[in-house]
Amino acid sequence: MRIAVIDRDRCQPKKCSMECIKYCPRMRGGIKVIEISEDDHKPVISEELCVGCGICVHKCPFHAIHIENLAEELQKDIVHQYGVNGFRLFRLPLPRKHKVVGLLGENGIGKTTALNILSGKLKPNLGHMDHEPSWDDIIDEWSGTEAAEFFKTVADGRLTVSYKPQYIDRLSYHKGTVQDFVEEMGVKGEGLEALMGRKMSEISGGELQQLAITIATEREADIYFFDEPSSYLDIKNRLEMSKKVRELARDRMVVVVEHDLAVLDSLADIVHILYGKKGVYGVVAGAKGVRHGINLYLSGYLKEENVRFSEEITFEKHPPREIREKETLISFEGLRKTLDGFELVVESGEIAKGDVIGILGPNGIGKTTFVRMLAGIIEPTEGSIDTEVKVSYKPQYLTAEDKMVSLLFSENKRHFHPLYEKEILLPLGIADLFDKNLTSLSGGELQTVAIAFCLSFDADVYLIDEPSAYLDAKQRMKVAKVIKRIMEKEAKAALVVEHDVYFIDMVSQSLMVFSGEPGKRGLARGPFSLRQGMNEFLRDISITFRRDEESHRPRVNKVGSTLDREQKAIGEYYYEL
Ligand code: ADP
Ligand code: ADP
Ligand code: SF4
Ligand code: SF4
Repeated sequence: MRIAVIDRDRCQPKKCSMECIKYCPRMRGGIKVIEISEDDHKPVISEELCVGCGICVHKCPFHAIHIENLAEELQKDIVHQYGVNGFRLFRLPLPRKHKVVGLLGENGIGKTTALNILSGKLKPNLGHMDHEPSWDDIIDEWSGTEAAEFFKTVADGRLTVSYKPQYIDRLSYHKGTVQDFVEEMGVKGEGLEALMGRKMSEISGGELQQLAITIATEREADIYFFDEPSSYLDIKNRLEMSKKVRELARDRMVVVVEHDLAVLDSLADIVHILYGKKGVYGVVAGAKGVRHGINLYLSGYLKEENVRFSEEITFEKHPPREIREKETLISFEGLRKTLDGFELVVESGEIAKGDVIGILGPNGIGKTTFVRMLAGIIEPTEGSIDTEVKVSYKPQYLTAEDKMVSLLFSENKRHFHPLYEKEILLPLGIADLFDKNLTSLSGGELQTVAIAFCLSFDADVYLIDEPSAYLDAKQRMKVAKVIKRIMEKEAKAALVVEHDVYFIDMVSQSLMVFSGEPGKRGLARGPFSLRQGMNEFLRDISITFRRDEESHRPRVNKVGSTLDREQKAIGEYYYEL
């Protein structure tokens, strides 16, 4: 089966010379493979007439065309297609009572499409664009399957749904207090007592996320959807969220999309991997147990379908050997900062050239305050920093200016180091976004651009606050690699504030640990070795990890389990010795 997909946002017939039509060998031979649509004056490719030579794909100056050959048997499994030459979704995940079902796949692969179909927001067209099937047709098509039973409840409006949306930043535009908002939503807001009097515009991202999760959880429904519930939450909150969501599944159906794999591991019972080509097509693979499913995802290979969908990702079971003797790049001594009601004390420390330092700690403990002091944005109340260094900073919360991505980079080019194109823009695929406006980017795309922009500057220290937010697991790995490489090559240092343990594991060479009482006082220690840093941090929050036998990836231990108790007794919270 051959599919032709045209990205209609990319295609710009006014700016090209219609290379697709000009060079198509079949068109030249007089066969009308490509026609111009009367609606948007953009090309439409006939999949029946196209021979799949791929010439148009290479000739289109805006990379708007994709031609893919897919296995014939997929055709019967098409669930939805967004118009002629549009993205296609094959197969669906199936929600189950008493189970948390997780969706695992890169951005643009169809997860939201699948969620929208399951929640009844989007009626699947089974690939028919000329005559949209009725619910009866759809249920007929799937008759005899569990999906048919499920969709009967969707079709007759019996299924009640509660949805935690992906982007929660927008909630901060609401006027009034958290109390007002909770009342407007018709829920109680249990556990949010401390937030009630605060204005919606003034609470942090982590607090907005907790609010959104509480609202979705308290609503009465048959099925609950949580789209990326962990963004902006610290590790403790992530595991608490996971517990709360699992409790819901005791007598209801729950479906989640989550890219923090350590969290997904403790959150879901079953996972469906989605593979395919982003923006072109997505296939929902069969249900797997969560442990096996995540291992398969990390291995990048689905045996039963015989598809390799990404590179393998590996983890170190044992702490890496120390390589010290590095040159100091920046040092700080006796730093203290008081803000009204909050005090941060930073033990003396130094940052070495080439180092990537992971910064661990709960929300509200002073991590951003520390980073902002290093960046020279705020002055310490006491103590000193070697301020000879130039700092490039990626903030936690991003706002998009009305500007083309290409312009953002070209107008700052004179401030960039020579490796920025080869080592940053290329591996992060930024050129693909050049023709887009910053305001039109998805959350993941905007995050990638912000990271690339920060890393491109010719600076000494890079401060990167929560780079994983809205990135899929694959993008996280890529970003971790890019950060590491550029620091090594350029002998610069990076400080990365992050809550995703797998990301921290991949990116860090040493760790700083923040502890104390959130909102009141924070103490920053380190940099430590990975082993010591993980132990210090995990002891504070009383969480241990074991290693998966197959993939060696860290997995959260159940509190009080034999392993949890044994590891706590010997003080090894993360690595095997
Ligand atoms: P994910 O949630 O995995 O990021 P989505 O389901 O949001 O993926 O989108 C998958 C693809 O479907 C997108 O890359 C886009 O090309 C296409 N798509 C999504 N929504 C629409 C729409 N309303 N119209 C046309 N195409 C769409
Ligand atoms: P983290 O990055 O660890 O989440 P922050 O450094 O952002 O923590 O904040 C630590 C504490 O300092 C929080 O309680 C926050 O409310 C407070 N705080 C941060 N910036 C200011 C400020 N400009 N004025 C008053 N308090 C602040
Ligand atoms: Fe031009 Fe490419 Fe669109 Fe064809 S697909 S009209 S070559 S932009
Ligand atoms: Fe024409 Fe080849 Fe493109 Fe098909 S793949 S539309 S035959 S150029």
